[in-house]
Amino acid sequence: MTDTAVAEAPGLGLQLPWQHSFAGLGPAFYTELEPAPLPAPHLVSCNARLAAELGLDPEWVASQEGVAAFTGNRLLPGSRPLASVYSGHQFGVWAGQLGDGRAILLGELPSAGGPQELQLKGSGLTPYSRMGDGRAVLRSSIREYLCSEAMHGLGIPTTRALCVAGSDQPVRREEIETAAVVTRVAPSFIRFGHFEHFFASGQQAELRKLADYVIDRFYPQCRTTPRFNGNAYAALLEQVSERTAALVAQWQAVGFCHGVMNTDNMSILGLTIDYGPFQFLDAFDPGHICNHSDDRGRYAYNRQPNVAYWNLFCLGQALLPLIDDQELALAALESYKAAFPRELEARMLAKLGLTGADAGDREVIEGILQLLAKDKVDYTIFWRRLARHVAGEPAETVRDMFLDRQGFDAWLRLYDARLPADRGGAGRAMLRANPQFVLRNWLAESAIRQAKLGDFSGVDELLALLQAPYDDHPGHEALGGFPPDWASQIEISCSS
Ligand code: AMP
Ligand code: MG
Repeated sequence: MTDTAVAEAPGLGLQLPWQHSFAGLGPAFYTELEPAPLPAPHLVSCNARLAAELGLDPEWVASQEGVAAFTGNRLLPGSRPLASVYSGHQFGVWAGQLGDGRAILLGELPSAGGPQELQLKGSGLTPYSRMGDGRAVLRSSIREYLCSEAMHGLGIPTTRALCVAGSDQPVRREEIETAAVVTRVAPSFIRFGHFEHFFASGQQAELRKLADYVIDRFYPQCRTTPRFNGNAYAALLEQVSERTAALVAQWQAVGFCHGVMNTDNMSILGLTIDYGPFQFLDAFDPGHICNHSDDRGRYAYNRQPNVAYWNLFCLGQALLPLIDDQELALAALESYKAAFPRELEARMLAKLGLTGADAGDREVIEGILQLLAKDKVDYTIFWRRLARHVAGEPAETVRDMFLDRQGFDAWLRLYDARLPADRGGAGRAMLRANPQFVLRNWLAESAIRQAKLGDFSGVDELLALLQAPYDDHPGHEALGGFPPDWASQIEISCSS
C-alpha cells in the first residue's frame, strides 16, 4: 500500500511527523509489510504520560481510532511498517536468523528526548515468524507494558510502552488465551543480534552501514575520540560495553532478573528490552532462576553480569571485521570488567545512603547481601525499611526480618559507623534509591486475572504506582507489601 492510499483510509486523517531513518538503511535490513488486523480490538490501557511525550493526545490514543491505529488495523498515514532481520545466540547456542517475528516498526516520531521508534508487538506474521503465530497474548502484553514503565519509573534504561489493545481472538499457548498488541517505544530497537546477523552472513558492507548508522545517530563521540587510535568501531564496542555494565548493575541493585538474556534480546543502546519471563526478586536468593524454561539456570540472577559480558563478546566478534584488530576489540571489551563493579558499587552505596569511597564499603555491602541470602529476606521490603530506619524510624521493623538477629545487629553497628552525621539527609536520599513498589509477579498476575475478566482497572492502578515507585501512595500500601503465599506457585516460562 502506498502512503497516498493509506492517507485515504477512512477515519485516520491524523498526520504525524514521521521519520524513517531505520528504513533508510535499505531492504537488506528488513521486509516492508502490513500488520495483520486484529478483530474487534479494544483498549486495555493507555500510558497518557508517554503519549504526551510523543506529542499524541492521550484521548485520541485511547479512542476507537487510536486503538485501530495501534493494533495495525488502520495504518497511520506516513508510517512505513516493516519487520527487521536479525540473528542471535539463544541459551549460548547460535540460533541463526531470527528477526521481528511478531513486531512491526511504524517509523519514528519526535520527542523531547530525540526521535522515538514506535513498534507494534503482536501484530501478525512476518517473514521472520518461523514456527510462531505472529501474536502476543494479553498476559504477556500486560507484563511488558507494566514492566517497561516500572523500569522507566525506577530510572533504569528501557524500551517503553504507549498502550495495550486486546481482542477476543483466541491464541494458543499452553492453553487458549486471547491476542493483544503492545505498542513499544524506544530510540532504536537494534539488538546485538542485528550485528551478528550481518557478520554471520558475511555481509560486510551492511555490517558497516549498520555500525555507522548506530554511531552517527547514538554514539557520535566515537568518531572524535582519540581512544583506540581513533578506531570508531572499537570505541562503539567500548561504549556499548559501558552502557551494558551500567544497565546490568542497575538490574542487580534493584533485584531484577531478565530471564532471557539471549544476544537478540540485548539492546545496542543498553536498554532493557524484550520483557518475557522477567521477575523482581521476592526473597533474596542469588541463584534465583525466574524463567521456568531455563532448567540449567543460565540466566539466574547472579549470572546476569557474566552473561552480559558473554553477550558483549559475541557483539565484539561481530564487529571484528570493522575494528580489524583483535587487541583493540579485546581492550574495548575489557572496559566492562572495570565498569560493572564500579557501577554496582555506586548503586549499592546509594541504596545504603553512603557517599564517598571508604575501604570498609565492600564489607558493608557484602555483609548485608550475605545476611539477606541466608535468611531469604524480602529484598525490596528490606531496603525500603532500612531507608525508613535511617530516615528516623526505629530499627525493629528491619531487624524483625532476620532470623539471625545477632548477625544483623553486628552488621548494623558496622553500617551505623559509616553513616554520615546527617542521617536524615541520608535517609531521604535512600527513599529515592529504594523503591516502595516494583512489579512483582503476583502484582502482574492479579492485574492480568482481572483483565482477563474485562476489568482493566488493576492495570491502570499499577501503572500509576510504578510510574512513581519511590513515592508512598496512601491507600495502596498492600501493593508494596509481602507477596501472598500463592505468589510462590506462579510459574513464568518463555511462553508469551
Ligand atoms: P523472544 O524469546 O520473545 O525474544 O523471541 C525470540 C524470537 O522468536 C524473535 O525472533 C521473536 O520475534 C520470535 N517470536 C517469539 N514469539 C513469536 C510468535 N508468537 N510469533 C512469531 N515470532 C515469535
Ligand atoms: Mg526477543
